[in-house]
Amino acid sequence: MDDLKSIIRDVPDFPKKGIIFKDITTLLADAKSFQRMVDLLSHRYIGQKIDKVVGVEARGFIIGAALAYKLGAGVVLVRKPGKLPSETFSKSYALEYGSDTLEIHKDAIKKGEKILLADDVLATGGTMSAVVDMVNVLGGDLVECCFMAELEFLKGRSKLPQGKVFSLLKF
Ligand code: 5GP
Repeated sequence: MDDLKSIIRDVPDFPKKGIIFKDITTLLADAKSFQRMVDLLSHRYIGQKIDKVVGVEARGFIIGAALAYKLGAGVVLVRKPGKLPSETFSKSYALEYGSDTLEIHKDAIKKGEKILLADDVLATGGTMSAVVDMVNVLGGDLVECCFMAELEFLKGRSKLPQGKVFSLLKF
C-alpha cells in the first residue's frame, strides 16, 4: 500500500495556512494507481448485496462511480446546496468555523436498500457523519462508509457508526 500512499501529494497551507492537504489528484491521474485503488476498494464488497453507492461531492463522485460500476450498483450523488434539480433533503453540519450543508434527492434511496458510502478522504468525520444521517432519514440500510484515505490523527471514525468504516490508505 506504500506505493499508493507515496503517490498522494502533500500540499502545505491549503486551503488555509497550517493545513497539509492530501492531494489525491496525483493518484487519480496515474493509470495503474487508479486502477489498483479501485480494484482494492471494490474487492472488499464483491459478493455483498449493494444496491447503491453514494458519492460525496466532488472527489467522492469519482470513487463512488468507479465502485458502483465494479459492484453493479447504482450511483447516488450528495451535493452542495442548489445543485440537485429535483426535491431534496438537506443536512447541515458544523465545521471548525461555521457550518456547511449537503443535499440528496429525496427519492434517490428507497427504504431498506443496501447503501455503501464513498469519499476520497476521512478527516474530522463531519461530512460523512452528515451523509450517514441523510441515508438513515431516507431509510437506507448502511453497509459501510469507505474512503480511499484516512487522516487517523483527526479521529474522524469516532463520529461514524462503529464497525462500519473502512479506509484503504492510512496517514
Ligand atoms: P471531514 O468532514 O472528514 O473533516 O472532511 C472530509 C471532506 O473534506 C471530504 O469530502 C474530503 O474530500 C475533504 N478533505 C478534507 N481534508 C482533505 C485532504 O487533506 N485531502 C482531500 N483530498 N480532501 C480532504
